[in-house]
Order: sequence, then C-alpha cells, then structure tokens
Amino acid sequence: MTPDSYLTNALLPDGRRAHVRIAEGRIAEIRPADRPLDAPVPTTDAGGDLVLPGFVDGHMHLDKTLMGLPWRPHGGSGTRMSRIENDKKVWPTLPLGPAERAGHLVDLCVRQGTTHIRSHADVDLEGGLSKVEALLAVRERFRGQVDLTIVAFPQSGVMRCPGVLDLLDNAVALGADLVGGIDPCEIDRDPKGQIDGIFGIAARRGVGLDIHLHEPGELGIHSLQQICERTEALGLAGKVTVSHGFCLGMVGERKADETMARMARCGIALATHGGQSSTPPPLLRLRAAGVNVFAGSDDVRDTWSPYGNGDMLERAMLIGWRNDFRHDEDLFAAFDMVTAAGARAHGNATYGLTVGAPADLCAVQASCVPEAISAQPPRTWVMKAGRIVARGGVRLDAPEPINTHGGRLR
Ligand SMILES: [Zn+2]
Repeated sequence: MTPDSYLTNALLPDGRRAHVRIAEGRIAEIRPADRPLDAPVPTTDAGGDLVLPGFVDGHMHLDKTLMGLPWRPHGGSGTRMSRIENDKKVWPTLPLGPAERAGHLVDLCVRQGTTHIRSHADVDLEGGLSKVEALLAVRERFRGQVDLTIVAFPQSGVMRCPGVLDLLDNAVALGADLVGGIDPCEIDRDPKGQIDGIFGIAARRGVGLDIHLHEPGELGIHSLQQICERTEALGLAGKVTVSHGFCLGMVGERKADETMARMARCGIALATHGGQSSTPPPLLRLRAAGVNVFAGSDDVRDTWSPYGNGDMLERAMLIGWRNDFRHDEDLFAAFDMVTAAGARAHGNATYGLTVGAPADLCAVQASCVPEAISAQPPRTWVMKAGRIVARGGVRLDAPEPINTHGGRLR
C-alpha cells in the first residue's frame, strides 16, 4: 500500500495551484495551495511545476518497433500489402525479438509520462500467437509502471487467411484484451465475413474490438455502417473503437455528419494518430457529435515508419498542427485526446486531476497545457498509482513512494 502524502505546490491543468493528497494510489483530495495542510502528513514539493495526468497512448504497434537496434533504413514500398509482406521477410532477420524491442519502446514511453498503452499485436498464420505472447511478457515486466492493453490484430487479414479467426479467439483466451480487425472490404474483400467473425469472438468472449479502417470514401463509410450495425445488435456500446477512419474526411459533410452521429449513438470511439492521410477525419466535428476521440502514436520507428518517439505531448502537437488547431480551446481538445479520452475508452471515466482518479501523473516546467503542447518540455517526474516510476528522464526499476523523496521532487 502506498502511504498517504501531499504533493504540494502543484500547478493544475485548469490553472489552479493546489496541494494534491494521494492515498492508496489515488487522488484523495485537492486542496487550494493557500489552505494549510493537516500535520503530520508527509509532503513532497512539486515546486510549482505543471502536474498533468499520465498520458494514454491509445494506438501503438509495440511488436513492430525497431527500437533497441541500430538505425535501419526504411525498406517498405508504397502499399499496405507490400509492407505486410515486408514485415514477414524482415522480422526473422532481426537480432532482437519482439519482447526486447517492445521493452525499449515502453521504457521510453514511461520516461515521457505515458501510464497506459493500448498496443496491437499481429496475429497471422506465419507468426501465430508469438507477438501476443511477447506483449504479454512485456505487460508483466512493466506491471506497476504502465498498464498495457493488448489487441489481437489480424494485420494480414481474416477471411483471406483461413485459420486466423481461431487464432484471434485463442489470443483472447491467452490474455489479449480486445479483438482487432482491418479494412474488411479492401484487405479481405468480404466485409460481412470479417465483421461477423470478429464481432462473434468479441460477443462470445465478452471483450471489445479495435478495428483499423484505412478504407477511403464510400467504401470506408460502408464498412463503418456495418460496424455500427453489429455494435448495436450485440449491445457493445462503449467497447468498440475504429482506428483512423480516414473515410470520414473524404466524403461530403452531410454523409460524414450522419455517420458520426450514428457512431456516437452506438458508442463507437475513434482512435487517431493525427492524420498522416491527406484527408484526416474531422476530429473536432467528431467530438462535437459526441464521439470519444483518443490518440496514439501508431508506428514508432518500425518497418512501417521511420518516425515517432512515443512522446504524447509531441503527439498532441502533431494532431494540432495537422488539423490547424490554433486556439487554446482546441489545444485542450488535443490534450484530452492524449489523456482522459483514452482513459474513457478503457472504461476509466474518472481520470486526471480530480478526486478519485488514479494518481497517474507527470510534471513539466510550463505555465499551462497549451504551452506544454507547444514546447514539449522534459518530464520532471512520472507517477503511476502514487509511486514515482521515472525521474529526470530515467525510469526507476523499482517505483518509489513519493514521500521517500521529501523536500522537492525534481
Ligand atoms: Zn495501427
């Protein structure tokens, strides 16, 4: 059990200065900074730093990263299918396995304030469940420092690879949290088959789904409508995510608005990496329609992309830059996407600097959230469930209670 402690002199995201009482890994009280503390509770001084909720990276591919290896020039070509085939050639030649490479990336994420990751793990006929097993090992290794939600992801398709549905089912039995899907029309050319199959597993196993949808225009909208229909029919509101949803930025406003309204009614969330596509989904209109929009890094220095570093403040900046967010209220929307929206997608409605929320926090030297997104200052410290897991950019193998530091937490 984590001892009670006050984190004093914290600047909160809403601009208040406060002392934050932490008990049993959660925020127990937020007291205005000018109100005296009850002695003799131990205190640790945040030194006026901006204290933020831990970041939720809601879309990663930890199994694909090349972190931990020397720089490797990008070897893929232009199409999704060619990249899928390239992975299968490259991965067996790498000197580090997926668990080791993923470990390097998770370490970097924790040091930068991420306290929850949702990662897809490839499930296919060649690799079977090996990537899921690797991420299950990573989840154990980092338990207490970061939560890891695993999606069993049929990257190569479902219906075009007979046997993958059984593997997805086995992956959930093994410990994966969600069933994935991918472009049911473009990859499988059998939208009904894929969507019936993956929703069948989710309903039977009592888990949610996260479906990659890169399909363009009307094709993507058709798949999205099918996803809405199954979500409604099976009562899976709040448990289904569509990742990317580029089609929403490629059709007329009226069609997009109708589809977004239906997503909101069905309780389907949207995960975005910021819109590398030339036509990103309209993130603010999705939010206005009532869709929970959360963010993730997607590929981080892997066989699909040379870019990325797992920094969710940088991700918020990229989302804002790509979508022309200029006003502070829009920057706060980007901030919600990298924090509370991701928590909501995982069923944690109470999140952030609020009583009852998990004490998953990090600190930066900035005067406000928009400045933190713009400047992306280093994380002074990172806390998971009331314990310090990283300080000064270094991850601690054994998380420490905050009151072991005494004095100032820098
Ligand atoms: Zn992805």
